Amino acid sequence: MAQLHNLGFPRIGKKRELKFAVEAYWAGKSSLQQLQQQGQAIRAENWALQADAGIELLPVGDFAWYDHVLSTSLLVGAVPARHQTADGNVDIDTLFRIGRGRAPTGCACAASEMTKWFNTNYHYIVPELSAEQTFKLTWTELFTQVTEAQQLGHTVKAVLLGPVSYLHLAKCAGKEFNKLTLLEKLLPVYQQVLAKLAQQGVEWVQIDEPILALELSAEYQDALKNSVAALAGQGVKLLLASYFDSVQNYYADIASYPVDGVHFDCVAGDLDVNELDALLSEQQVLSLGVVNGRNIWRADLEAIYTNINAIAAKRGNNLWLAPSCSLLHTPVDLDEEEKLDDELRSWLAFAKQKGQELALLNSALQSGDTTAIIAYSEPVKARLTSTRVNNRAVQQRVSGLTNAQGQRANPFAVRIEKQQAALDLPLLPTTTIGSFPQTQAIRKARRDFKAGNLSAEHYKQYMQAEIRYAVEEQEALDLDVLVHGEAERNDMVEYFGELLEGFAFTQFGWVQSYGSRCVKPPVIWGDVSREQAMTVAWTEYAQSLTSKKMKGMLTGPVTILFWSFIRDDLDKPTIAKQIALALRDEVVDLQNAGINIIQIDEPAFREGMPLKASQWQAYLDWAANAFRVSASGVNDETQIHTHMCYAEFNDIIAAIADMDADVITIETSRSNMELLTAFEHFAYPNDIGPGVYDIHTPNVPEIAWIKALIHKAAKKIPVQRLWVNPDCGLKTRAWPETRQALDNMVKATKELREEL
Ligand code: GLN
Ligand code: ZN
Repeated sequence: MAQLHNLGFPRIGKKRELKFAVEAYWAGKSSLQQLQQQGQAIRAENWALQADAGIELLPVGDFAWYDHVLSTSLLVGAVPARHQTADGNVDIDTLFRIGRGRAPTGCACAASEMTKWFNTNYHYIVPELSAEQTFKLTWTELFTQVTEAQQLGHTVKAVLLGPVSYLHLAKCAGKEFNKLTLLEKLLPVYQQVLAKLAQQGVEWVQIDEPILALELSAEYQDALKNSVAALAGQGVKLLLASYFDSVQNYYADIASYPVDGVHFDCVAGDLDVNELDALLSEQQVLSLGVVNGRNIWRADLEAIYTNINAIAAKRGNNLWLAPSCSLLHTPVDLDEEEKLDDELRSWLAFAKQKGQELALLNSALQSGDTTAIIAYSEPVKARLTSTRVNNRAVQQRVSGLTNAQGQRANPFAVRIEKQQAALDLPLLPTTTIGSFPQTQAIRKARRDFKAGNLSAEHYKQYMQAEIRYAVEEQEALDLDVLVHGEAERNDMVEYFGELLEGFAFTQFGWVQSYGSRCVKPPVIWGDVSREQAMTVAWTEYAQSLTSKKMKGMLTGPVTILFWSFIRDDLDKPTIAKQIALALRDEVVDLQNAGINIIQIDEPAFREGMPLKASQWQAYLDWAANAFRVSASGVNDETQIHTHMCYAEFNDIIAAIADMDADVITIETSRSNMELLTAFEHFAYPNDIGPGVYDIHTPNVPEIAWIKALIHKAAKKIPVQRLWVNPDCGLKTRAWPETRQALDNMVKATKELREEL
């Protein structure tokens, strides 16, 4: 009979208990002891949830107070010098300091950078390693947690981020060097960890090497071989795990690794299970990740059964079944949801339910009786053909999309002349990115309206008053292109999801984004359509208050897609086109309502990049096309803006040009305009608004400093094509600093207009 295991479980708790526990500790409202107890309770509940569902081998080491890569850094003693204390002590405060940049002494030492964990929306803390880095077994929480699980009577499988992936994810502190030179210093610490786990009676250790899903240099491939060889024979059995994409390129290597088992992601990788079976010997454990660990859909157990039945019969105990990857990326428990209708609920499965799915599958494999799995898979099949999911009109519109609809009628050079004539803006036009401070009062009004405690009429009046306030402020500041301020938006994706057809929202469908931050992605379950205008009334109202130009504000198709849980029965390009068409109608409606500047935000554009570089171009093509579909329904005179936050632009600069927005605003101030170099070298042809101040802090930028940045920008981009704006939206800021900062921004610009 196959064995069931999990690569990892959501650590935040059913109701985000971990978030509230660590935030209370940070705020000094709870003691270390309380925090430790709360963590222990979450782990105990997680193990119980998994065990009750039928998972036999439970992961230990997947829990983290902040991030599992950061825990690994502490495990091996890689603490950046600025976060070390005089006594050399490394504890939970060290960990939080690295993640959050705050020391107990009160001094603020810059937090370590964070970046996206492969192609997920989870962010990890980037290890900072120097060429002289040494490693030492330091943070021993893993062993405590193993004991904890054992005392609860669970069978433990320890989980470690593999040494080669760890090095790959790290950055060089100080001057660049080949990080792989550190491997021989790192491996002895891992060996020590394995030996200790063996002493604790742990039979299996899962070594995660997710970099196998990338396209690796020969050097990294060799490093993996050496690493696996060094970790074998330390008294525990090794399960090498990869996930997030296929590892086909390395089949030969994997087959040669001296490990006791290998886990494959059969969902993302779309792998042939028979090929995998042939790769490993009969003594080795073949672990198949058959249930999708990244989404929230109920699995088609019947299909999985058919696919793996023969292998299960043959391999018996040496077949393990699991979700495709750690369940870190799914919410905990569908049973907590009270507001989903029965049909929708029958289509879904969260982390707990995914464990139950494996158990159901396993008993069918054992008995040969498929009645239960056929019944379970019924709704999955029903969803595919449901009239609720399928909207013929949307499907026909997508398949009828012409190339012309994905392009503005005329090239930028023609458009910009007409726009300049129509808009009559000064040199270096000033604008903002969209949102203004979201005060407590604004949030309360939205909450009250949602809860039914504020009538639609009163809500409208309240929001209009906020818009009026934002417009008056902007007029007083003498900004050139105004915005309505986004007071009515709780979140830039959720706002649109709630107004579009085909989206659902959960109550507790949280997933960790970074540290204590969680997001609750909407669920795109059906064909997406727009029944009515979503932003026109607010924007029109805002425009009615001023003779200056009001900029409409939308979230782009790529961003809506990547910040949602998406359907698994349609490919991403098609879903993106559906969203793009809905937005296209909104863009045209805005234009018809007299809005001549429309911004379509795409902060997630870069995030969508596939793991394998050879697939980047195909992604960039469809993503840019989706953006253009949303933007191209308008006249030449209507100016389309887009916005992206901080990103490495080099890889995507051609695609950004391909998006063909008339103006792009980007986050550049912290890079001191260095990020503009990509645009300069590419000779990016359209207009650009490089952010001139950081909106992540309340600090007010000085006029001279802003001027210096614009000067720097003007060396890279012709000044006629430059806009002046902050780095990003101002929703997290308060009014006093916002007012002062924008005032300085406008003053700096005015001075430059005289000087240039
Ligand atoms: N228009 C959005 C805002 O200003 C953009 C947010 C973002 O880029 N993430 O808030
Ligand atoms: Zn932004």
